[in-house]
Amino acid sequence: MKIRVNEQFALLEENYLFSETGHRTRAYQAAHPEKKVLRLGIGDVTLPLAPCVAEAMRKAVDEMGVKETFRGYSPEYGYDFLREKLAARYRRFGVRLPAEEIYVSDGAKSDVGSIVDILGENEVLLPDPVYPVYRDSNLMCGRRVRFLPAGRENDFLPMPEGLLREPYVIYLCSPNNPTGAAYSRAQLRAWVDFALESGSLIVFDAAYEAFVEGDFPHSIYEIPGAEACAVEIGSFSKTAGFTGVRCAWAVFPEALESRGVGLGALWRRRQATRFNGVGYIVQRGAEAALSEAGERQCMEAVAYYKRNVRLLSQVLVERGIYHTGGLHSPYLWFACPEGERSWEFFDRLLATVQVVGTPGAGFGKRGEGYFRLTGFSDRASIEEAAERLKTVL
Ligand code: PLP
Repeated sequence: MKIRVNEQFALLEENYLFSETGHRTRAYQAAHPEKKVLRLGIGDVTLPLAPCVAEAMRKAVDEMGVKETFRGYSPEYGYDFLREKLAARYRRFGVRLPAEEIYVSDGAKSDVGSIVDILGENEVLLPDPVYPVYRDSNLMCGRRVRFLPAGRENDFLPMPEGLLREPYVIYLCSPNNPTGAAYSRAQLRAWVDFALESGSLIVFDAAYEAFVEGDFPHSIYEIPGAEACAVEIGSFSKTAGFTGVRCAWAVFPEALESRGVGLGALWRRRQATRFNGVGYIVQRGAEAALSEAGERQCMEAVAYYKRNVRLLSQVLVERGIYHTGGLHSPYLWFACPEGERSWEFFDRLLATVQVVGTPGAGFGKRGEGYFRLTGFSDRASIEEAAERLKTVL
């Protein structure tokens, strides 16, 4: 053919990070079939859906099988019953949002990737290390990306100090993937103030909000003024075990406008064109996850993962190894021993104790020398992994 393809793709790493870790793990397992490999690499949940969620979905399947209650396309911004439940959840954090400002989608990944469609040429600021989707979705459409260095000096929570007061699109994720670090109220206040002063937009990824402990913000809208400078994206994936079910949401407050154009209006237009809504059965499941019983059951799973990650972090505490995460997050991020590089440590950990994690370098240059483990596993594997880690750390 003689057509031109999107040449921006040449800027992307050839392999998605998890393809490479998966490839190396499979190769090791094939060569050593007798070894039991413990996989603490990928951020995927392992516990089943909460009983009341599964029940609500079964009921919805029955409705779909009957002429009188069958439904076709769902509304492209979500059923009102779910948008209202989400608005009620925000009220618990003291955040008042009209249900119409909440747009249901099939995943936070879709939303963080799709938001580029409604934004023009701006300098995009991303923390380094970063969830790769922010970087790649911007590179794919030719946006200028600049990295905000995260490291020990700022406990992996970059702040706006030193930035020119210019309008940027800034991606923040708290609690963070990959580092597990969470912004305090004062730190988010500083980011919101910076965005308001500079005319910037914050894209706030709250996918791990359910893991937050104590007086840390669950939502950026807990910071007054954020409704005029921030989009928030939430997800049922990690909170309610929906990684395979698919349901999330984006919040576009009506106060969010730039140069006289409302971002919510652009998002509605974008979604109406390119998205056909989330299935009824899934939305009934999500609604159930937000019911009283659903929240209780889902939070039991969150507590289980958090206990897992605490068991791993105890090993690091005992060994005096620098780390972030493990508290407000299912992730634990730590310095590889003796300055070892991330991929070398990955290979060594796999070869010596058969524990699979994720090399920090896969999340950006500043991730080099660091390593991520997750608490998304069963307790017995976590306990075994903790024992094995003690022998190499
Ligand atoms: N945002 C972050 C920071 C994530 O870590 C992930 C998944 O790992 C997602 C978004 C994707 O979430 P979803 O499953 O809702 O697409």
